[in-house]
Amino acid sequence: MRMLPPGSTIGILGGGQLARMMGVAAAQLGYRVAIYAPEADSIAAQVATRHVCADFTDQSALAAFAMTCDVVTYEWENVPVTPLAAITDHAPLFPSIGALDVAQDRVAEKQFAADHGGVTARWAVINSAGEIAPALAQMGTAAILKSRRMGYDGKGQARVMTADDADAAWAAIGAQPAILESMVDFAHEFSVILVRGQNGETRCWDSSDNVHRGGILRTSSLPAPSIVQDQMPMARAMASRIADALDYVGVMTVEFFAGADGPIVNEIAPRVHNSGHWTIEGAVTSQFENHIRAIAGLPLGDTATIALPVRMDNLIGADVDHWPTLFADPHCHVHIYGKGAAVPGRKMGHATWVGARVGIGA
Ligand code: AMP
Repeated sequence: MRMLPPGSTIGILGGGQLARMMGVAAAQLGYRVAIYAPEADSIAAQVATRHVCADFTDQSALAAFAMTCDVVTYEWENVPVTPLAAITDHAPLFPSIGALDVAQDRVAEKQFAADHGGVTARWAVINSAGEIAPALAQMGTAAILKSRRMGYDGKGQARVMTADDADAAWAAIGAQPAILESMVDFAHEFSVILVRGQNGETRCWDSSDNVHRGGILRTSSLPAPSIVQDQMPMARAMASRIADALDYVGVMTVEFFAGADGPIVNEIAPRVHNSGHWTIEGAVTSQFENHIRAIAGLPLGDTATIALPVRMDNLIGADVDHWPTLFADPHCHVHIYGKGAAVPGRKMGHATWVGARVGIGA
């Protein structure tokens, strides 16, 4: 395994907050950071060495970018796969295109998880509104219709409580190929975030309890409740088998529901994850630093939690207007992403408390 020396260039596809935090971690290790993002005002480019502003489908721009990088990674699982061949001709790409293929399509994802010992909710492929009612009847529970592609933060989803909801749900997701997934009765949501090095060594961070509202993560906290801690070993084993099967390099996240009978795989994200932002201050090595270490061929850092309790609150939309209160709290680690308008639902930043009074004004 060749270790990339400091001064080498890490290329990141995508210009949002995940790329920004990866870039900061890479800079700390002495690397140069090149951002490839279609938006002119990328918040990752604000903290990077270089910004190439071009579309993800522009193969000649991707090739030229790769020629200037020693390794390339991405912040987002929905980068178009086909043009990425232009990258791999010139620089190593981690995680691999194979990981993207699995994560971009909910059918491939569910199948892959199941093939490697993961338990999933019951699901069926849906290609037309008329297929929803029979699939629902077979499941015998309420269900969620999810678009096969481009789904994140609850987007492209509609609940189907009875067969009468079928047409509205199909229209709500934009009448596109989908899966129908049975509604899981879960006590908590958690994720396993792991890092896998180029030599196959794998380390996991502790799992936080993740609370969502409106499909968007609001808060991650540790220690997780006992049901999550009890299910963590099995969930880690499932996530590790998936990572091994993909010969994965970098940070990978598997989202789980803590069901009555054990952990149920919800989603695989081939990237650093919002539910791991607490690791910046709460773990010996953050998810961002270990991702960079893995793709650069460095030894992995320790993933142990430094102190308990830990809490990370997302600053969604106007939440960010509380910045004076957050900055005034001496126990609060404030991260503001440098985005423009605080549009409702937009992730504007996050705040973390570690081993101290947690939460604003606590
Ligand atoms: P996803 O985009 O698939 O992660 O879904 C967003 C959120 O919707 C999840 O974090 C859950 O809170 C909820 N959700 C998704 N799938 C299910 C399911 N099968 N049963 C119950 N809730 C779900």
